[in-house]
Amino acid sequence: MLRNKTRSVRVGNLTIGGNDHVVIQSMCNTKTKNVKATVEQIKRLEDAGCELVRLAVFDQTDAKAIKDIKEQVSIPLVADIHFDYRLALTAIESGIDKIRINPGNIGNIDHTRAVVEACKKKHIPIRIGVNSGSIEKDILKKYGKPTAEGMIVSAMKHVQILEDLDFHDIVISLKSSNTLMTIQAYELAAKTFDYPLHVGVTEAGTALGGTIKSAFGIGNILYQGIGNTIRVSLSDDPVEEIKVAKTLLKELGLAKNVPTLVSCPTCGRIQYDMIPITREIESFLNDIHADITVAIMGCAVNGPGEAKNADIAIAGGVGEGLLIKKGEIIRKVKQEDMAEELKKEILAMVRGCNEI
Ligand code: SF4
Repeated sequence: MLRNKTRSVRVGNLTIGGNDHVVIQSMCNTKTKNVKATVEQIKRLEDAGCELVRLAVFDQTDAKAIKDIKEQVSIPLVADIHFDYRLALTAIESGIDKIRINPGNIGNIDHTRAVVEACKKKHIPIRIGVNSGSIEKDILKKYGKPTAEGMIVSAMKHVQILEDLDFHDIVISLKSSNTLMTIQAYELAAKTFDYPLHVGVTEAGTALGGTIKSAFGIGNILYQGIGNTIRVSLSDDPVEEIKVAKTLLKELGLAKNVPTLVSCPTCGRIQYDMIPITREIESFLNDIHADITVAIMGCAVNGPGEAKNADIAIAGGVGEGLLIKKGEIIRKVKQEDMAEELKKEILAMVRGCNEI
């Protein structure tokens, strides 16, 4: 898929924007000062496929804890800061890779200048994060309510402050919990800015609702070639956000090394207990980092057809199924052995291509 051309910024060992891949990110929901819990969560996120993690920096203890956290993890970290520029300065001293702060919200220009100079010295980019729920009062007055246009005006104001200080390592986000407004804001942003865009539907809800809103909102934006990094926002374990993000990018042709699971919805023709096997294999595939397609089909009607297009598949029968590899029937397996047999074959296939 063609991507909009933007500037690129470096975040630790990652590039965001330019022609680079769409970076998956999430945010810890641990207290940043709880270094052990935060490091554990970052490692779980990294194992799941997360490439960049944001940490809430609430006070100086959080900002100082970044140093200890950085020593124990390998993916780049972003400090999420509101209002207090001194927290940004400490986070930068602690080795943070990126700052999320709105320069128009941190007091006088000397505060912004101090943060910008510290970022310049260490080549740290700044994300300007505009949220429809916190648009400035004067902009809100002009538009009467939160709008995509108002979000762009707000972002322009913050961008201008940084540009006036000759700072251009900028990433912009324009999030709303209203999915249509989010899409409109990013469409306008792509026409207005050449900075990379961080895409997300904010406060999207729980795993079900948030997944649907994110798939529609983020998916629509990415499908237009817009967006350089994404965060799926769920009221859940952040690892769940990564699973959704990976599946979304895979469906858009923007992710490598993510498995695809094909499974039928089941119907009255089914003669084995397929759904628990599908769930078990879906969970197993979360730890597989390879471009393979696994199909689990209920019966002989569509089963063999789908199975032929998969790398490894089960086409169900009466209490048993056919194990099919690259379109060839390998053997029959009993219902109770299906999950284990599939896992063995998936591992053998993945190990063969060294991508696990
Ligand atoms: Fe029904 Fe068979 Fe289709 Fe599954 S594959 S939905 S069991 S007809």
